Amino acid sequence: MTSRKPDIFDEIILFLRENPAASEGANLSPELAEDFFHGQKRNAPAGRPAPAPVFAAAPRVPAPEKTPAPPPSKAMAPAPDPASLDWTELRQTALQCRACGLCETRRTVVFGEGPTNAKLMFIGEGPGADEDAQGRPFVGRAGELLTKMITAMGFDRASEVYIANVVKCRPPGNRTPFPEEADACIGFLKRQIRLLAPKVIVTLGATPLLHLFQMKGITKIRGNWLDWEGIKVMPTYHPAFLLRDPRKKVDVWRDLQLVMKEFGKTPPARQPRQGDNA
Ligand code: URA
Repeated sequence: MTSRKPDIFDEIILFLRENPAASEGANLSPELAEDFFHGQKRNAPAGRPAPAPVFAAAPRVPAPEKTPAPPPSKAMAPAPDPASLDWTELRQTALQCRACGLCETRRTVVFGEGPTNAKLMFIGEGPGADEDAQGRPFVGRAGELLTKMITAMGFDRASEVYIANVVKCRPPGNRTPFPEEADACIGFLKRQIRLLAPKVIVTLGATPLLHLFQMKGITKIRGNWLDWEGIKVMPTYHPAFLLRDPRKKVDVWRDLQLVMKEFGKTPPARQPRQGDNA
């Protein structure tokens, strides 16, 4: 038994358990709910205290700092036209791209990853420091949360999901990409989407909405199906935003359940709890 005081997330989990209708008929199992909402491993090894819940222990994630645009690059090349490239050519072209100033400060190009027959695609904004260091999308704290979201949906991140970003190189200080940077890069993402042709895309945060749909803001649009060239798109909040404001996880879970329905998935039935029939 842990002795921590119940908090708002315990209340959300309890509320979802006791009001299945509030989660559109699909409830999270207690384990997944705790993992998604609390980011906490249950059943810690005996003798060691269970780790504190992420939202309680972790410092709040600061909003990205504002950094000036890098000076125009002397080595700037025209934006590539990836429209006819196959997966191998597309990756090679992206890895060598020098079409915007981000090429000056990047360590790696984060092309995207996942099976090229994935039916579910997630699209973020751009690599952060961890992604820039590893050359893989969503491997930092926001990535950990995204992986939990994917698992809670009943998908395996490595074998069933393709993950990409609007820009393939890290904007310094994790700022939002400038329009000219997104414009230089968006051809790669569009080609990735067309080659993949997933059943559903989930866009994370405002940036993919802006550059794929020219729509501003996420708050009013999230949770509503959009269409991109015949592919269903569900806009939802970015996991980095959820790290700053975990109360929004309930909204994201609602959005993700709409996606799950498209795949005929429902979360595992909840386990009976002590006192259920009391
Ligand atoms: N945030 C993003 O939008 N993409 C990543 O790959 C990592 C963090």
